[in-house]
Amino acid sequence: MGCLERCQFGALSIPEDVCVVDSDRCIGCGNEHPIESLLYTCPQCGHVLLLIDRAFDDLKSIPGEMWHKIFDYRRMLNIPALKGIYRYHEFLGSVIPLDSIVYLGEGHTPLVEANSTLSQRVGIKFYYKNDGQNPSASFKDRGMASALSYIHFLIQQGLVSDVLAICASTGDTSAAAALYAAYLQPHIKSAVLLPHKKVTPQQLSQGCLSHLLTYRLLQQLLYCLWLTAR
Ligand SMILES: [Zn+2]
Repeated sequence: MGCLERCQFGALSIPEDVCVVDSDRCIGCGNEHPIESLLYTCPQCGHVLLLIDRAFDDLKSIPGEMWHKIFDYRRMLNIPALKGIYRYHEFLGSVIPLDSIVYLGEGHTPLVEANSTLSQRVGIKFYYKNDGQNPSASFKDRGMASALSYIHFLIQQGLVSDVLAICASTGDTSAAAALYAAYLQPHIKSAVLLPHKKVTPQQLSQGCLSHLLTYRLLQQLLYCLWLTAR
């Protein structure tokens, strides 16, 4: 059974020879690196990397209406990995097997109608996503669910161990990283680099509840970002 056939039945597993993101391609020099390599940037030139899914064009063989039905069908399934952002598994990162996905309730936050005052001011009826209802009260949970699911996959494959996840953040990102990393203990610990006197205790409190290690640096956030990339 091929990948696309399985999708219609809930994407219970992904065969390695069909639904794989084959490599990271550098947008600078064009060099490709195996997806199993845990790289932050291109080791040759330092540019960022682009995920290449060689099977992506195969998804076009399924009409859009069918994809809608597949996504709606998955909402009824009792498969945690398909309840969050990975309900759209084939479009987000099919390299990650469903049993590696860390799902904490992120995604599918309420779509709330704007009140009449706002609608009149804008001149049209509109809605907004209440992403404050994500697990760490931030939209950052969507990206962090993806990042930590990938790390989980590498851990399960025995490709990495004793991981220290470092981020430079003044609030939301560190809280989200700490929360998702806490679910992969003892294999992974998380730390955040902070610009000194630029973060309030309230901003940090949520991350600390998830065993976040904190390092306050005298420099500004940009320096923290640079140091994290090293
Ligand atoms: Zn490069």
